[in-house]
Amino acid sequence: MYDIHGLNEECGLFGIWNHTESAHLTYMGLQSLQHRGQEGAGIVCSNGQNLIGERGLGLLTEALSQQDLATFQGYQHAIGHVRYATSGNKGIENIQPFLYHFYDMSVGVCHNGNLINAQSLRKELEQQGAIFHSSSDTEVIMHLIRRSKQPTFESALTESLCTIKGGFTFALLTKDALYGAVDPNAIRPLVVGKLQTGEYVIASETCAIDVLGGEFVRDIHAGEYVVINDDGIRVESYTTETTTAISAMEYIYFARPDSTIAGKNVHAVRKMSGKRLAEESPVEDADMVIGVPNSSLSAATGYAEAMNLPYEMGLIKNQYVARTFIQPTQELREQGVRVKLSAVKDIVHGKNIVMVDDSIVRGTTSKRIVRLLKDAGAKSVHVRIASPEFMFPSFYGIDVSTTAELISANKSPEEIKDYIEAESLAYLSVDGLIESIGIDEDVPYHGLCVESFTGDYPAGLYDYEERYFASLSERQKAFLAQNTQYFDKAGNQYV
Ligand code: AMP
Repeated sequence: MYDIHGLNEECGLFGIWNHTESAHLTYMGLQSLQHRGQEGAGIVCSNGQNLIGERGLGLLTEALSQQDLATFQGYQHAIGHVRYATSGNKGIENIQPFLYHFYDMSVGVCHNGNLINAQSLRKELEQQGAIFHSSSDTEVIMHLIRRSKQPTFESALTESLCTIKGGFTFALLTKDALYGAVDPNAIRPLVVGKLQTGEYVIASETCAIDVLGGEFVRDIHAGEYVVINDDGIRVESYTTETTTAISAMEYIYFARPDSTIAGKNVHAVRKMSGKRLAEESPVEDADMVIGVPNSSLSAATGYAEAMNLPYEMGLIKNQYVARTFIQPTQELREQGVRVKLSAVKDIVHGKNIVMVDDSIVRGTTSKRIVRLLKDAGAKSVHVRIASPEFMFPSFYGIDVSTTAELISANKSPEEIKDYIEAESLAYLSVDGLIESIGIDEDVPYHGLCVESFTGDYPAGLYDYEERYFASLSERQKAFLAQNTQYFDKAGNQYV
């Protein structure tokens, strides 16, 4: 049975048009996006006539060999994808880009995010005779495009983009053009860059442009798509029903610190959130501030600076252990955590520590790290989280789509403090988060999607609605009743 749990969550996309080394540059771009997905990777290339592709499981270096890249010699156009490890189907059939050969054309397609009406669209399509090969949402858009009565590929694509809902970006390649598209809320990011030699690229994050020595051209905004072909570059809107609401989790956790989203550098935002957290929830008797590598280091420096406390390296992460590092038994898993993260005993021993982390989702990471620090001799551990309580599931592509997974859905900060065995625990406020990112104070949602902290879903819920409302906990219900400022005047749960 098709699982409603999203199968194409946070991923990384890259595309390039008209470069003799298109596959190698795509590989380099994907390497800088590896943090967005480690489960699998692939590249599809075109030489203006034929499209060919290679894909594999694991990190980019495992998924694609130099031999694979050699097969793309002479192909000037490319798209590539790194796929996030979800609990969904991990088979090779879900690794993107998908490559379709039709009687009249070939298309490569890959996607980042989650379509929230994919299940109903899939059902409709299957009832009309469509046959799906994977459990991926990406196939849905291809079926929609091929079934469209529109006269051109581009018009069929725009019609299909209007049919799907959720938080998504797409990269598509035909023999004639490279396309990049963004959802009507710009929940997931996509940017255009230009190489020094003049070729255009698209990427999930600006860091992929930087590693190629290119320059940032522009963000692809809500409801826009870009077409890059031999005539140059063109940006169009496929819908006027747009409200920008960029995923705050991109700033908090997903994106690389050197990336810039909507004009805001990720490191600077994280540092600002740490500073704000210090103002909101100071720890007076601390000896030092430490961050949990890697995603919370920027916030920890901000906290330390604001408190005038030393920022120390109390935890070390082995950078060579991939996220997909899974062991068959609980004992080996515990061992695995120690292999991945170590406390620096001489630094933390006998000290009162502020430990800054970017978020608490299930609560298991914080619990383990507090224990690690205490086993290393820390006198006290005060946990400070550089984002608000993660109380509501997200359906827009960050792999946290059920209430049951979220410790804050049922437990108060006080209860979580006891669970993780910390001396104290505090979170950044929602206003603190929004102001730290600082996109725009005067637009709806402040330009941000903060659904996991407020229960306000800018792109709606669609196939998830029934299950979402049925699974609301008492704590979530109480939050929604008390925080009506996040909802529209008619009292809708989401607007
Ligand atoms: P836990 O509370 O054990 O679920 O882990 C929370 C940690 O996982 C945070 O400190 C983040 O670094 C990281 N994290 C946050 N959101 C996600 C996500 N959607 N997928 C994977 N890891 C995440």
